[in-house]
Amino acid sequence: MVITIDGPAGSGKSTVARALAKRLGFHYVDTGAFYRAFTCKAMKVGADLEDEAGLCRLVKETNIEIVDGQEGVRVLVDGEDVTREIRDPGVTERVHFIASLAKVREPVVALQRAAAAGGANVVAEGRDTGTVVFPNADRKFYLDAQPEERARRRYAELRPGNKGISYERMLEDLKQRDQRDSTREASPLRSGPDFISLDTTGLSVEEVVERLLKKI
Ligand code: C5P
Repeated sequence: MVITIDGPAGSGKSTVARALAKRLGFHYVDTGAFYRAFTCKAMKVGADLEDEAGLCRLVKETNIEIVDGQEGVRVLVDGEDVTREIRDPGVTERVHFIASLAKVREPVVALQRAAAAGGANVVAEGRDTGTVVFPNADRKFYLDAQPEERARRRYAELRPGNKGISYERMLEDLKQRDQRDSTREASPLRSGPDFISLDTTGLSVEEVVERLLKKI
């Protein structure tokens, strides 16, 4: 069984997808981690983030591993653990370059499908998991919440070293990211007629998980 959860930043989809996968004993796939990991690598090697052909080559020669272990999911780029680094605001700010390029997305989607192939039952989350990565998913959810609440959630998740960013800046960045993710040509963030939508504003993670479980 494949369950997809799409939605904008801070809608609760990562936390909910993880909790849901745990409850059901399903394999969890964080598709955003792949775009973040490649962005991290591109930044490290000083790649031109607007050079589609160069980034395609980089994606092909980079080894990404997502390891679901004792301490949760770890992300490795060419053997280096970047689990924390990929969440830094500097990476978040630049993911849209790689995420907006159709030719770069193709091999990334293949990796995401391969990551899911490890488990017969999967909960995948991202922006295009129900539309592109797993169009034949058994259940497709779309989570959203008020921008202010989403920014508050993301702010609370910041590492101590990044707390210099204000809540206001967080809110502005989040709105800009939503705008980019939903208006780009390549696999935009989108719901569909076969999606079940839920506004998570004011709901706890447990409440959201319970509501999704009722629909599964
Ligand atoms: O979900 P997360 O915040 O980690 O995603 C980071 C970025 O990666 C998103 O803003 C989006 O640009 C990109 N992304 C995507 N397609 C996905 C998942 C993430 O384009 N399926």
